[in-house]
Amino acid sequence: MSELFQFADNIGPAKVMGIYEPKLHLRGILVVDNVAAGPAIGGCRMAPDVTLQECARLARAMTMKNAAAGLPHGGAKSVIMADPKMPTERKEQVIRAFAHAIRDVADYIVGPDMGLNERAMAWMHDEIGRAAGLPREIGGIPLDEIGATGFGLAIAAEVAQDFCEVKIAGARVAVQGFGAVGKHAARFLAARGAVLVAASDSSGTIVNSNGLDVEALIALKNRGRSVVELPAAERRDREAIVGVGCDIWIPAARPDVITMVNVDLLRAKLVLQGANIPVSPEAEERMHQRGILSIPDFIANAGGVICASVEYHGGTQSTALETIEEKIRNNTREVLDAMRLQRVTPRRAAVDLARERVLVAMSYRRF
Ligand code: NAD
Repeated sequence: MSELFQFADNIGPAKVMGIYEPKLHLRGILVVDNVAAGPAIGGCRMAPDVTLQECARLARAMTMKNAAAGLPHGGAKSVIMADPKMPTERKEQVIRAFAHAIRDVADYIVGPDMGLNERAMAWMHDEIGRAAGLPREIGGIPLDEIGATGFGLAIAAEVAQDFCEVKIAGARVAVQGFGAVGKHAARFLAARGAVLVAASDSSGTIVNSNGLDVEALIALKNRGRSVVELPAAERRDREAIVGVGCDIWIPAARPDVITMVNVDLLRAKLVLQGANIPVSPEAEERMHQRGILSIPDFIANAGGVICASVEYHGGTQSTALETIEEKIRNNTREVLDAMRLQRVTPRRAAVDLARERVLVAMSYRRF
């Protein structure tokens, strides 16, 4: 029993729910971390190895992200322990069963995360009438198709230029995880003059110091292939992306990819955290000591949830992009100004900003 409360502090989690459906071998977890600002919004992740701990940490990251972005939403996360590459027919059954299981948790609005796309959100919406990140045909703003999170990362990079030596025009970029977030981050940065020199996915890393063809790489990934199949690039193993010589390094795959074990391999001057919780707290501290500017996940990668919130409240795609730009530009600047003024890490400054907003929201509530 006490395990359920191992993450509890003065913010949350408000609810932890285990979901088990033996007929379908469905195993899932929902953590609603905090609902002071409004119903919690947060993605549902499908992966074979997701844990309660990962889910709880991601739920807290959503509380901080939604608070930092000033959205009328608390934070939550859900996970389904399964292979996202299962046959579509079975996947639909599993998703619908999961939606059915969370139907009464009215203060949780589910969104897409790793392993689940707009189609999965349409199934959830069909079951319980509550989901964000829907397909265009049913009123959604397809956030992964338009690259909402990648766009936000490029905006964060624009602000970061005033706080480190990196200038986007001509900057060498390396992206770990060339998926929905990674490929659009590369595209928006390339449009601002940056050069993609390395990219990786679960099959390996490719490097070309003269620059990789971003559009060709995106086309390849959109056909379901791996980055390692791109011609005119040197192939390395998957973990090699960490040590690639670059100016901007973007984690856009899994949590905890940078720890004390490999942090000193990083050769970038700016890290834009596209993935959620990609860097351990100790490694984040170490980066700061080494003079690497690292923009925390819940500040830099809020584009997706801002887009989902705009969609949920009936806004359009152009409103979503304007809102992402305004919020990420202001928040990144506020955090980096505080970092300078208070001589703290960007993470410390960001946590203080978000925590203060959550506590103020909680002070307005009876419970
Ligand atoms: P995705 O599934 O579209 O892409 C993930 C990519 O990472 C894939 O190309 C996969 O092959 C690759 N990958 C997986 N394991 C890897 C490894 N060990 N090394 C290198 N590459 C690996 O997922 P996504 O939507 O792009 O999300 C990526 C990360 O960004 C996740 O942490 C997610 O929580 C976070 N995030 C996503 C959004 C969004 O809008 N999609 C918003 C905020 C945060």
